[in-house]
Amino acid sequence: MNDLLDFDRQHIWHPYTSVRSPIPAYHAVSASGVRIELADGTELIDGMASWWCAIHGYSHPVLTAALSAQADKMAHVMFGGLTHEPAVELARRLVDITPQGLDYVFFSDSGSVSVEVAIKMAIQYWQAQGRPKKHRLLTIRGGYHGDTFGAMAVCDPVGGMHALFQGVLPQHLFAPQPSSRFGEPLAAADARAVEALMEAHAGEMAAVILEPVVQGAGGMWFYSAEYLRHVEQLCRRHDVLLIADEIATGFGRSGTLFACEHAQVVPDIMCLGKALTGGYLSQAATLANGRVADGISQDGGVLMHGPTFMGNPTAAAVAIASIDLLFAGGWQARVHAIEEQLARELAPYADDRRVADVRVLGAIGVVETVQEVDVASAQRAFVAEGVWIRPFRNLIYVMPPYVIEPEDLSRLTAAIALGLPG
Ligand SMILES: *Cc1c(COP(=O)(O)O)cnc(C)c1O
Repeated sequence: MNDLLDFDRQHIWHPYTSVRSPIPAYHAVSASGVRIELADGTELIDGMASWWCAIHGYSHPVLTAALSAQADKMAHVMFGGLTHEPAVELARRLVDITPQGLDYVFFSDSGSVSVEVAIKMAIQYWQAQGRPKKHRLLTIRGGYHGDTFGAMAVCDPVGGMHALFQGVLPQHLFAPQPSSRFGEPLAAADARAVEALMEAHAGEMAAVILEPVVQGAGGMWFYSAEYLRHVEQLCRRHDVLLIADEIATGFGRSGTLFACEHAQVVPDIMCLGKALTGGYLSQAATLANGRVADGISQDGGVLMHGPTFMGNPTAAAVAIASIDLLFAGGWQARVHAIEEQLARELAPYADDRRVADVRVLGAIGVVETVQEVDVASAQRAFVAEGVWIRPFRNLIYVMPPYVIEPEDLSRLTAAIALGLPG
């Protein structure tokens, strides 16, 4: 064990780990295209896009050039009282490419914070309407919205961390996870469950918050677009706002630019992050429609949030380059090709007795196992095979950079066999 890994193991927390017996971390030294290089020279084909982020792969010359040019000019300035071209140009693009009506942009430094801001917007909106009792949220089980307190409170209550923080988290409303799969019609029971909750609680509800169609870190579940459309209709009927958390799905991952588009749903508030900067820097955005933005701002109201690094020019410059690259590169054809290949190459796993379910949507492929995966040993096997796949619970999944070549994708799908428990 070298010095670096020793120090890391003894002093640094990695995500969701103990400092006493952490799952081993590997020493990455560089990354380029779809390959991550380790200190011992091992090259790993990346199946994770660094958690939905690196859609163009690593060290993309166009993104790196945008970053260094902006860093040379003005790496950062406060956004209080100052503005700049990168923030304005990025906001212009976001207003342009997101569903109609999301015309107001609030920048922040991470996805979780953008969710906090979305929740704040919804609550401030109803306060400004003279209806302060409308302050609760409804969400669906199996969701993930981030690790800060407001976001945690709308994560899945079991898979999330509600038991750990009992008495501290606000109590929100949870509809069952929709059982209707993506591509299938909405089951009556799914429809009724959320309907009943909204009928009973609309008077105290500020908003519904959900991940449209694709539930990510809560369980990698793809649900029926009709369910999303149904929830939108219920929101309109009961005068409740709709917040779409597109932090994972934004920028093409599920096959449409935003996952809302699978259902032609237009939310009142939308959260973006992760792939926003092509995986280079942390930056997020919360977009709101005129109803919400004007509603908060009427009678001299202000939105009460202001992170230090909001609108960071370097992050914004990379984000602009990333969005332009996405559109120039024919992302939709690439994502569809990945989807077809994933569907073809993962299908045989469905017959394996160790596998509970296989599902594919856009550039996301999921193999759900019967037993829980031993992450440390699965990762050892993956690294020995030259791929980077990071399972959690009973889920082995890949969501590679869109630029992955078919041969590399085949190595990822084949390698999944090595991680199957049981
Ligand atoms: C990752 C994620 C978040 C949190 O974003 P961070 O940048 O990690 O704070 C919120 N919602 C969804 C759907 C996510 O996938």
